[in-house]
Amino acid sequence: MLHPVHVIDHPLVQHKLSLMRMKSTGTSAFRSLLAEISGLLAYEATRDMPTHQVTIDTPLARTAAPMLDGKKIVLISILRAGTGILDGFLRLLPSARVGHVGLYRDPKTLTAVEYYFKVPREMGDRDAIVVDPMLATGNSAVAAVERLKETRPRSIKFVCLLTCPEGLENFHAHHPEVPVYTAAIDSRLDEHGYIVPGLGDAGDRLFGTK
Ligand code: URA
Repeated sequence: MLHPVHVIDHPLVQHKLSLMRMKSTGTSAFRSLLAEISGLLAYEATRDMPTHQVTIDTPLARTAAPMLDGKKIVLISILRAGTGILDGFLRLLPSARVGHVGLYRDPKTLTAVEYYFKVPREMGDRDAIVVDPMLATGNSAVAAVERLKETRPRSIKFVCLLTCPEGLENFHAHHPEVPVYTAAIDSRLDEHGYIVPGLGDAGDRLFGTK
């Protein structure tokens, strides 16, 4: 089976990620950087979106021009930190539908517990992009995609800001066909399930809750 992982090593992405990693970066800058970087991740994750030719009139001539094939994308945000990535994606894909998966991480077992799930109707016609900044243990991502698969979307991609070998291994053990897009694969997980060197708790840094 394929284990497709796309590392977005564009200099703009890497520069912004370095700023986000710095502990001196405050909530407001962290939020803006995540939105900016997410737009760049969205750009890469949608590179293979199908287009079709339409006839248009420019001020000078009639010509054939490519347009995206309908409003088929659904963005699935894993609460709560997924919201930060979602904002950046919606700037590029303003017509996308949005679904939410609410999962919290049990601090003792590090397993994902679902408390909310809401997605648009007619998922069978849609390509889903699941977003969450940190693919750490992978347990939330695995659970979110498992739940999403019950709605039978046409395709699924997973986009995160940071991941690590342990998270990728867990994710692909359960969902080997789902491509992962990330800005970096860090060294490891620590004993609390945090990515090292990472950037700390993405939700807390995004919302200023610590
Ligand atoms: N979630 C975070 O916000 N940060 C990590 O490093 C791991 C999980």
